Amino acid sequence: MLPVAIKTPYQTRKNSKVGSFFIRLTWLYLALMLVQFATSAALAQRRTAGKPQTQSSGPRPYPEFRSRFGVIRWLSDQMPLKVFVSRGLSLDSIMDPQLGAPVANVDNLAAWPNLVAQIVENPQQWNSLGVAEGYVDGHYQAALEGVSAWKAFEPEGFLSYQITNDPQEADIYVFFTKQFVNKLGMALFANDIRGYTSKTNFPYKAILAGGQAAFKPVVIVLRTTEARGASMPLGKMKAAATHEFGHALGIEGHSTNAADLMSVYYGRGVISPNDAATLRYLYRLQPDLIP
Ligand SMILES: [Zn+2]
Repeated sequence: MLPVAIKTPYQTRKNSKVGSFFIRLTWLYLALMLVQFATSAALAQRRTAGKPQTQSSGPRPYPEFRSRFGVIRWLSDQMPLKVFVSRGLSLDSIMDPQLGAPVANVDNLAAWPNLVAQIVENPQQWNSLGVAEGYVDGHYQAALEGVSAWKAFEPEGFLSYQITNDPQEADIYVFFTKQFVNKLGMALFANDIRGYTSKTNFPYKAILAGGQAAFKPVVIVLRTTEARGASMPLGKMKAAATHEFGHALGIEGHSTNAADLMSVYYGRGVISPNDAATLRYLYRLQPDLIP
């Protein structure tokens, strides 16, 4: 028993020495790893800090431009697009007899292009359109300036459009309303919605395969009054027109960055660097649908 008793502590001690050597090695290894990790982390940080313009804070396309049905944009064959901005005309006198509400109510957005196509073909109906309550002369100029803001991209070659005074030949129409109503004819006072855009889209593949697209007009309606009924300030009208025309060009959803024109907050009322990056990105993609 005794030799064993002696041997055991010795062996244990010897083992523990070997053991602690390995443990020390492990600690050293861990410490080295830590130093290495800290160094590479610091390097990575310095690398990111070196080019912040392109990595974190530079203009970037926002993914919300894509509709749930895919990419929607015009083809170069369709350009220059023709845009008719009405002098205050409202669609609200065209009533749905069953609903007792305007056909152009926001629960019926999908029907707006057909409605306008029908009115354009019927001169009597076109001439019956009245001017929206709350409309002032400055609203036309403001809407025109808003729509024209995207002309800044024309020199880049992927986009072109013209303002036309002939409603017969337009691809995109701008109308006005005192306020938006739902299918019950009830006014919508929710937040700050100053415009709606409705378009009918056609599968690009079907058109490539020789299919005939029955093109329908894209319809923008802008609001002439604010929540309290006062005339829409010209700056807000211009921002709304610019925003809605962004939708007409194919930016379907809303940027989550409040500083972007295509956010629900209209940003600063002008096309932001992110909006610009998004439009450029969109027009480099093959569309799934075309307006
Ligand atoms: Zn919008």
